[in-house]
Amino acid sequence: MTELTNYPPLDQWHDWTEFDAKAWPTKVEKKYTLVPTSCFNCEAGCGLVCYFNQDTGEIDKIEGNPEHPASRGRNCAKGPATLNQVYDPERVMYPMKRVGERGGGEWERISWDQALDEIGARIRTAIQEERNNEIMYHVGRPGETNYTNRVLQAWGVDGHNSHTNICSSNARIGYQSWMGHDRPSADYANAEVIFLISAHLESGHYFNPHAQRIIEAQSKGATVIVCDPRLSNTGSKADHWLPTWPGTEPFLCLSIIHEMLENDTWNRDFVKRWVNWETFLAEEFPHLPQEWESVEAALKEHYAEYTPERAEGITGIDAAKIREIAAIIGAHPTKFSSHNWRAAGAGNEGGWQVARCLFFIAVMTGSVATVGGTSGNGWNKFAPKAPIGAPKITRWNHLEWPPEYPLSYHEMSILLPHFLKEGRGKLDTYFSRVYNPIWTNPDGFTWMEALKDKALVNCHVALTPTWSETSWFADYVLPMGVGAERHDVVSYETHAGRWIAFRQPVFRRYAEIEAARGKGDVVTAESRTHEYNPGEVWEENEFWIDLSWRIDPDGSMGIRQWFESEAKPGTPIGIDEYYEIMFRDSVPGLAEAAAAAGETPLEFMRNRGAFAIEGDQTTPYERNIDASAVEGSRKDEGGVYRKPGTAGAWDGSPDTLADITLDSLGDGSPAIEIDGELKEGFVTPSKKLELYSTTLKEWGWPEYATPKWIPSHVHHQDMDMEGNERILLPTFRIPTLIHTRSSNSKWLSEISHRHPLWIHPEDAEKLGIDENGLVRITTRIGHFVIQAWRTEGIRPGIVAASHHMGRWRIEEDKARSWSAGKAKISDDGQGGWKLNRTDGIRRWKSKDTDTERIWWNDTGVHQNLTFAVQPDPISGMQCWHQRVRVTPAEKGDQYGDVVVDTNKSREAYLEWLAKTRPGPGPNNLRRPLWYARPLKPTAPTYLAD
Ligand code: SF4
Repeated sequence: MTELTNYPPLDQWHDWTEFDAKAWPTKVEKKYTLVPTSCFNCEAGCGLVCYFNQDTGEIDKIEGNPEHPASRGRNCAKGPATLNQVYDPERVMYPMKRVGERGGGEWERISWDQALDEIGARIRTAIQEERNNEIMYHVGRPGETNYTNRVLQAWGVDGHNSHTNICSSNARIGYQSWMGHDRPSADYANAEVIFLISAHLESGHYFNPHAQRIIEAQSKGATVIVCDPRLSNTGSKADHWLPTWPGTEPFLCLSIIHEMLENDTWNRDFVKRWVNWETFLAEEFPHLPQEWESVEAALKEHYAEYTPERAEGITGIDAAKIREIAAIIGAHPTKFSSHNWRAAGAGNEGGWQVARCLFFIAVMTGSVATVGGTSGNGWNKFAPKAPIGAPKITRWNHLEWPPEYPLSYHEMSILLPHFLKEGRGKLDTYFSRVYNPIWTNPDGFTWMEALKDKALVNCHVALTPTWSETSWFADYVLPMGVGAERHDVVSYETHAGRWIAFRQPVFRRYAEIEAARGKGDVVTAESRTHEYNPGEVWEENEFWIDLSWRIDPDGSMGIRQWFESEAKPGTPIGIDEYYEIMFRDSVPGLAEAAAAAGETPLEFMRNRGAFAIEGDQTTPYERNIDASAVEGSRKDEGGVYRKPGTAGAWDGSPDTLADITLDSLGDGSPAIEIDGELKEGFVTPSKKLELYSTTLKEWGWPEYATPKWIPSHVHHQDMDMEGNERILLPTFRIPTLIHTRSSNSKWLSEISHRHPLWIHPEDAEKLGIDENGLVRITTRIGHFVIQAWRTEGIRPGIVAASHHMGRWRIEEDKARSWSAGKAKISDDGQGGWKLNRTDGIRRWKSKDTDTERIWWNDTGVHQNLTFAVQPDPISGMQCWHQRVRVTPAEKGDQYGDVVVDTNKSREAYLEWLAKTRPGPGPNNLRRPLWYARPLKPTAPTYLAD
């Protein structure tokens, strides 16, 4: 008798037999080879297993990988939908080069050789002419931490640009200002109270790994509290749903702190030991005795205004409910797990205080990195070391790191077209990489104006798996793989534990397995992944190696050396060699585990797809540090050891800056003395949790040196709610959609292809909006027209429309997908732009007969086009929520219409720019040395001109 198993046993993956479900009830055997990889459809990097049909050599299905420590064999709908992306009939299959004018839609197929030669030559010239910073790499979905940074470093280019300031800048600075780590890592599975300012059970960051652990904890009795003005699926699963007014979440958190202080349910011992209360007292309460006994009174006074009664008026949550929540939290010390990433953090000016005030509760309950608490990402994410790397760069790119935003987290990418248009610089070669700024970013028509102008962007190379609104305006469109077609090492802080996963091109791996069985050619170090993927789809990692060789073919520029094989000097490093060295040398325990299995570390990862790294990550700040680590260091008055050669020991003189080596995280101080013992501490300048941030004070924001509420730009009490002004929430996502790439998945598009405007029936009555009626939403720079959905699932005063919808294409039969409607774009040459949706999706004939079965027509509305840039003056985060006028559609309005005036976009840009407090900061620095940057230059580069 065959034993039933949840998953095929690992030892049978290369030769697995199961019955063909479609042939049931007849038992027809099917032979499979199972190849693991990692999902690329959100950042969680869950494990996937591709089932290769041994008869056809094609993937029949994709399921979860039980060997993956974070996803544990489970996936959301987007994981298996990778299959659709691989076999999508309209994907980009070959390198394409523009013919005719940019955006004209004419393309010719070229070879990879031609693409590498032409792009390599122009980068070589730019570097030889010392125009290094005219090369920019702008990334949407990162595949692997640091791979491309290594490339840019080798080229000497300060050209890393990210999508972070449309995503998580606010949350990052909120967490980082407490603990140095800029992401939370919650141990949901062991928590007793889970507090989410997010929609984690349906779509939040690290959605599937988090959701399964939250449910696990709830089924063991944990209380789940969800803060969201919208009754999301997550809110509906919560024990307590708190529909706060947008942007008032910090006030709510601080009123909970207020109650914990009043009720004496805070963890005094933890706060005394690990919070920089001495600095708090000295800066905020110099008149009090500078001793621990003063802290309680100081905290009570500092947060006196945050009473539940006042919170009721500000947040919209009953005072009694706030007291109830505070009591629940106070009754569960050390077991408070919480999360904010986007949601309120991403919507509001001052939204960085959301994460900061939320983490304050973790601090006050003593739940920092405890079992069931909330840790820092750096303690659970594991980034293996690249085999070889060039020295740090010595250039500063003001197009990414402008002086107005010295504390931004990270690059000011939403402002790039404005900076280009006002002459702050230009781009010779702009790589957009799995990124669609015309569609995704606010102010997309200003992006279009910049990307169409060759004087601003001389050459645009789109590295992308699919056609997009942005790649349409590129000069080269180079097809890059989806999760089943590329190499990346993945690791994230999904739970209390460290792991790495290996994303691999499964067709290449299948060819290797087949070759070992004597079928087909052997895959060699010279083989390239595009030889195995569908069409000529490639992967970035090999592309960068080969491009670097074309830039510096004879090695005379000093670039090629960073891409040479150790095993065969003088030839490019192969992808196997690269990862073999990495897995052998820099992943604790992997070489031993592989040896025990009789495999090399690379084989181990290729066969399993993931590896759990051993080690206890509970309260790592309490780890003892050996005295040898602080030899030669100076101990400061706070007990922190300042080591020569680190930022923490720098004397502030420009002359000695060259002696400083910067750590990627923190200021390099090795330890703090606590009660006579050397401890690891936190990666902040004080090595403690910073209730008081001296960095914020010294860099011009003393009023926000402690956690505070900052009224949002959409604060309800400042708005004309009696009239037709409302708050628009455009940030929430539909769990079955992938930012902009779900358009190439037929299953996901079939499941989700609408995004009506959520509006409360009371508001709808007041404003004259019918069910399914057309609504005109007027923003600061234009308007759009959408359909209404009356629902009590949203607080009156707020309307909401999910993002991911409103994809468009200009031509009937080009750049087609399962959810891109047909659009007509017109402009008056004076900044006046219109997008009219001329049609939704229609059936067409393709090699996939399902394109003839499409039954839906709606493709949504591209609302982001009508949003001005609204960067938070401190973090630089796009404050996504909009102050809008909600009115019935006017005569002539059609569903999907978008109208924008980019002159108003510029006015809005200048208004928000005026809110900043520009650098340089102390010691004439452009940015604090201890602040993270994805690509950190040398210390002297931080000096302002
Ligand atoms: S949560 Fe879903 S989309 Fe994200 S990595 Fe996991 S399976 Fe993929």
